[in-house]
Amino acid sequence: MKRLDILITAGPTREYIDPVRFISNPSTGKMGYEIAQESARRRHKTILISGPTYLRPPKGVRFISVISAIDMNKEVKKYFPHTGVLIMCAAVSDYRVKRYSLTKIKRGKTVELNLKMVRNPDIIKEVQRHTYKLKHTLGAKMQSVVGFALETEDVEKNARQKLKEKKLDMIVASKVSKDTNPFGDIKTEVSVFTKNGEKYRLKGSKKKIAKILLDKIENM
Ligand code: C5P
Repeated sequence: MKRLDILITAGPTREYIDPVRFISNPSTGKMGYEIAQESARRRHKTILISGPTYLRPPKGVRFISVISAIDMNKEVKKYFPHTGVLIMCAAVSDYRVKRYSLTKIKRGKTVELNLKMVRNPDIIKEVQRHTYKLKHTLGAKMQSVVGFALETEDVEKNARQKLKEKKLDMIVASKVSKDTNPFGDIKTEVSVFTKNGEKYRLKGSKKKIAKILLDKIENM
C-alpha cells in the first residue's frame, strides 16, 4: 500500500473573550482522532492538529495542540505544503471576539453585554489559494482536501455547495437535529459526496467510519 502524508485537524477551537471565558462548540474530536489513529496504523505519515479535547493523542502520530482558529490556521498553513491529503475534521469557530479583554469582564449594572465578533479565516479555503508541487511528499502527486460539515437542514444541498465553494475532493456531512446528535463516542450516520459526483452513506461507530473513509481517501 502506498504511504501518504496525511494532515488531520480535529476538535473544536476556543475563542477566548477574557482570561476565563470562551466561545466554542460541543465537538469532542472523536472522529478526527479515530482517523488519525487508523492513518498511523496504516503507516501513513500522520500529523494531527487538535483543538482542546479530552482525548489522548493516538500513538505514532505527530501531535500539535492549538486553542483558537487563528492558531489552527497558522499550523495548517505551516504543514500543508508537505501534505498529500488534508482532512479538516475540526469544528472551527467561524467568529472570534473583536476585542479580547486582558482582565476578567466584570458583571456590570446593565442587563445586556454586547460582544462584537469578527470572522475567522476559512482555513480550508485559504490553504487552497496556494497550489504546491508535491516534490517532497510521500505517495500522492496531487494534494487532496477532505472537508466535514454539520448541517441542521438541507444536508445534501449545503454539503454539495461547500464541496464546490471550498474546492474539496470529498465532504463528509452529518445532520444535527432533535433526534440526531453526531457529537461524541457514538454510532452515527454520515453522507459522503465527492467532486466526481459520487454519493454514499456510512453508518456505524466512528472507528468503522474512519476506516471506510481512509479506504476511499487512499484510492482518490
Ligand atoms: O463550518 P463549515 O460547515 O463551513 O465547515 C466545513 C469545512 O470547512 C470543515 O471541514 C471545516 O473544518 C472547515 N472550516 C475551516 N475554517 C473555518 C470553518 C470551517 O477550515 N473557519
